[in-house]
Amino acid sequence: MALLTVENLRTTFRTDDGPVGAVDGVSLSVDAGKVLGIVGESGCGKSAMSLSIMGLLPKTATVEGSIRLGERELIGLSGSELRRLRGDDMAMIFQDPMTSLNPVMRIGEQLIEAVRLHQKVSKVEARQRAVAGLAAVGIPSPEDRMRSYPLELSGGMRQRVMIAMALLNRPRLLIADEPTTALDVTTQAQILELMRDLRSEVDAAIVLITHDLGVVAELCDEVAVMYAGRIVERATVDELFAHPQHPYTWGLLASLPGRNLASERLHQIPGTPPSLLRPPAGCRFAPRCPFAMDVCRADPAPALTSTGRGSAAVACHLTQDVRDREGARLSGEEQA
Ligand code: SF4
Repeated sequence: MALLTVENLRTTFRTDDGPVGAVDGVSLSVDAGKVLGIVGESGCGKSAMSLSIMGLLPKTATVEGSIRLGERELIGLSGSELRRLRGDDMAMIFQDPMTSLNPVMRIGEQLIEAVRLHQKVSKVEARQRAVAGLAAVGIPSPEDRMRSYPLELSGGMRQRVMIAMALLNRPRLLIADEPTTALDVTTQAQILELMRDLRSEVDAAIVLITHDLGVVAELCDEVAVMYAGRIVERATVDELFAHPQHPYTWGLLASLPGRNLASERLHQIPGTPPSLLRPPAGCRFAPRCPFAMDVCRADPAPALTSTGRGSAAVACHLTQDVRDREGARLSGEEQA
């Protein structure tokens, strides 16, 4: 059974210029022990979606639809109920560790407090768990590091501390929002390796938010591609790389480093994502899509429909033959 089930989620922000629909009818699910990657450019709604799940949105936002953790509906829970769930049942890793760490408190005090907030254990026991947590994420001399302040650590070490803090209470759901984006390439690789190791030990459902399909390939079982607030393609990672179906996914794949594609029309995604204040009718990718047809620019937008290959689904008016042909051409060029 799915641990996290999101159905028809709509997250809208009130602004002076009007409502901004950051998430527009997203449905997805993740099983325990699995990693779902949510991939897309900045502003596509992936972070708004993760904050909706965690109940961390500002008061200017409204959330509609359904978000269930196991059997429990999260939309409509009070602030105190959500606070209890965060840290107990679900935790989040942010791009910037300083979002979660208090700069004027020693690492050890913060970790001990995080344990005791959610578990009835003695201070000695909480301390032991905190030291073990730091050791588990590869922090050398964890006893000594307990006395450090966050700013005394490198960016990679701070990220490890945040991961340790997120895992302290063995959450059932872990959301990692661009966990490696702010790090240099070497540290990025170390943190990805750490998360790969942890995923087999922590039997949690993990949602990994990223703009980088390379990170998805490293860590995820399934992937949902988001564009302008909607999911446009969903598949297992193997299926997505073998048979990519959506023109936007083709553009993301083509822009992965190290890919030299002969086909110019797949090489780059021209233009920028639309404003979510006044998004275009029909398929929101149409203004940038080299395959756009008249039908694409009119409502209703193409619905997410099964491709016939396992759980894979795509929202695009192109016929399956054309999608298979263009996707195969992209895969063929990658292998050439
Ligand atoms: Fe391109 Fe049309 Fe498919 Fe949208 S529906 S991705 S515009 S072909």
